[in-house]
Amino acid sequence: MSSAMASEFDLIARFFTRPAPNAVLGVGDDAALLAPTPGTELVVSSDMLVAERHFFPDADPYLLGHKALAVNLSDLAAMGAIPRWTTLSLALPDVDEAWLAEFSRGFFELADAYNVSLVGGDTTRGPLNLCVTILGEAPTGRALRRSGAKVNDGIWVSGDLGAAALGVRYLAGQIMLDAADAALCQGRLHRPEPRVVLGNMLCCVAHAAIDISDGLLADLGHILECSRVGAEIEFDRLPVHPVLAAKRADPLVRRCLLAGGDDYELCFTAPPDRDRAILAVAHAAGVPLSRIGRITAASGLRLLDGEGREMNIGERGFDHFAD
Ligand code: ADP
Ligand code: MG
Repeated sequence: MSSAMASEFDLIARFFTRPAPNAVLGVGDDAALLAPTPGTELVVSSDMLVAERHFFPDADPYLLGHKALAVNLSDLAAMGAIPRWTTLSLALPDVDEAWLAEFSRGFFELADAYNVSLVGGDTTRGPLNLCVTILGEAPTGRALRRSGAKVNDGIWVSGDLGAAALGVRYLAGQIMLDAADAALCQGRLHRPEPRVVLGNMLCCVAHAAIDISDGLLADLGHILECSRVGAEIEFDRLPVHPVLAAKRADPLVRRCLLAGGDDYELCFTAPPDRDRAILAVAHAAGVPLSRIGRITAASGLRLLDGEGREMNIGERGFDHFAD
């Protein structure tokens, strides 16, 4: 039995049917037809955003449309892939045309910015739930995996860290910020900018990459585990968002930097003799890149202060560090 909404076809036609120049056949048939570029591998990822759990039900629909696609683009960037196609599956509690218009505006604005075609999806009635699947391409054998890090690789981070997590703490009433700083942090939290161009350029220079969605320590930890290596990080080299810079001694701010999450920056490793190539990539992509440490043969992650002393990151490990 179908659980489709009465006006499902009308909704799809009005809000989610656009020309799909990347597809042989887009929205409107039983399935889409895609023709991958010869010499590439398909790269596929899905992310689900659930109301109450990942966002407030009254969240700005324009920003939700942006974020639902942005977090998927970030996963493809972390593989070094070029995004090309996407599908969108929605459960909606009711038909709210103003909401749908704003949601699709945010979604398509970002899709257009990276030449991604919406080629299909599903629309049904239910508790608000957004599921985006992204498909892209990477040159055969060249996608960036978590398992590629080598001993002595430099460890790099794009952009800066901590602002989105500080925005969450601010919303929860755990820290005071002036209006301008609060606005900057909210912007990072609600409107992450996926590092698509950078990720694709890193394909030729990096050994391993991940996007920072759960916090630097946790996500770098995945690279270490998959690559069976350890790391040394110099705390003073972390790229700190300007709002956090003056407050970096505050334990809460330190947690935002190291374990905050929602940054959607890229963390990657690359051989130590490629620093110049990496800085050229930073320039070409227009994204600052900071070398924050190195990969070690000894397992585990050591965090060092300005004098080279090991900093305590808590006995319970990185997963609990954000508590
Ligand atoms: P079916 O019953 O064959 O699954 P649907 O009625 O669910 O088909 O969908 C009709 C067409 O609209 C399909 O091409 C599907 O991929 C597309 N579609 C449905 N929902 C969405 C959506 N939210 N965004 C984009 N395309 C959608
Ligand atoms: Mg369907």
